[in-house]
Amino acid sequence: MIKAQRGTKDIFGDESLTWQWILKNAQDVFQNACFQEIKTPIFEATELFARGVGDSTDIVNKEMYTFSVGGADKDSASITLRPENTAGVVRAFIEHNIVRQSPPQKFWYFGPMFRYERPQAGRQRQFHQIGVEMFGIKEAAADAEVILAAVNFLKSIGLGDLEVELNSLGCTKCKNDYKESIKEILKPYLENMCDDCKMRYNKNPLRILDCKNEDCQKIFELPDVKKVIMADYICEDCSTHFNQLTKYLDNLNIKYSRNKLLVRGLDYYNRTVFEIKSSALGSQSAVCGGGRYDGLVEMLGGQPTPAVGFAMGVERLFTLVNKIQSKKIDYFVVSTDSLEAMKLTQKLREKGKVVDFDMQGRKFAKQLEKASKIAKCAIILGEDEINQGFYSVKNLESGEQIKLDSIEEL
Ligand code: ATP
Ligand code: MG
Repeated sequence: MIKAQRGTKDIFGDESLTWQWILKNAQDVFQNACFQEIKTPIFEATELFARGVGDSTDIVNKEMYTFSVGGADKDSASITLRPENTAGVVRAFIEHNIVRQSPPQKFWYFGPMFRYERPQAGRQRQFHQIGVEMFGIKEAAADAEVILAAVNFLKSIGLGDLEVELNSLGCTKCKNDYKESIKEILKPYLENMCDDCKMRYNKNPLRILDCKNEDCQKIFELPDVKKVIMADYICEDCSTHFNQLTKYLDNLNIKYSRNKLLVRGLDYYNRTVFEIKSSALGSQSAVCGGGRYDGLVEMLGGQPTPAVGFAMGVERLFTLVNKIQSKKIDYFVVSTDSLEAMKLTQKLREKGKVVDFDMQGRKFAKQLEKASKIAKCAIILGEDEINQGFYSVKNLESGEQIKLDSIEEL
């Protein structure tokens, strides 16, 4: 038997109802806030992610599904299944010159992402993200608007009380100064740190702070190291930006806490970074991660454009929400004459009712048994009903049966 690939999942039955409900809420909330949906391709040039996500990240180094197609005479460029969607949206933003429309340009998306990771609770190889990207506004109101959209969406699916964590990475200048002081203070401890951190030390030192390895975390707790990590290193402009953001959030009654270890995995963030977490999720606790990425559009070949966004993991949301149960359908048409049954079914569907019938025209008893499992009412179309032109409607909960001359009475 051929099975689904490790780290992938089929979604069907009642689960698909919950998925539809999550998506319907996303659509309503984001569209209400004037974000437009954007759908970009599931595969892109590998180079887009290498440049746009950053080649010192775990995603690009270890997690991408990359392959090439075609032979010498075909297009044999390297392509990658998207591991995230910011790079793709930015590519589309540049390619279609969306920058010419007056800002802000606000987008939301939903779709599958692919990362070669060790499958475990909250971690799949094909998973889904709902996300938002907003372009053109450098002011802190944009950061607040994006966080507000995330919180409003979570509220709409009953998750309004998750923990929002915020940090500011500063601009390129303050980030670089901070990187240097982190490197300096960690240098004597480097040999006791994990292999990943040894690699990050030169390529992406801030990422070290995100490390989940216990030995590394113990080092961050050493008083002299902690002092450097916790130092207020961001410049005055970045500090003002951050304070404005917190003012907006306070004003909106959005609760948050500052987490100075929050640096996020991706290379491109500057200033604001945030995560939304739930302790109910165990070690994969983040449902949402986002931040500002003012340099990315230019880095990928567009005009300098400030931007801010987030991505949420739908599978992790799924484990937190109250599941939708499938409801009984309105009517099941019971008839051994499947021609008549189908005709009646169609008429009722046109009236907006949820209706099914037996396509095999099986025995009455069999059909009634099926009807009582899945439907609120059965409409019986026996010989008498068909010849004399009436309908017998049986309420399958109370057992009560009535005669109707016309389906308009239903
Ligand atoms: P993590 O810390 O869990 O590895 P990340 O920093 O790699 O997260 P992002 O790239 O910021 O995650 O993606 C945003 C969200 O997408 C995460 O907060 C999470 O909810 C979800 N997510 C990321 N990777 C996976 C995965 N492999 N399976 C399921 N959900 C995922
Ligand atoms: Mg990850």
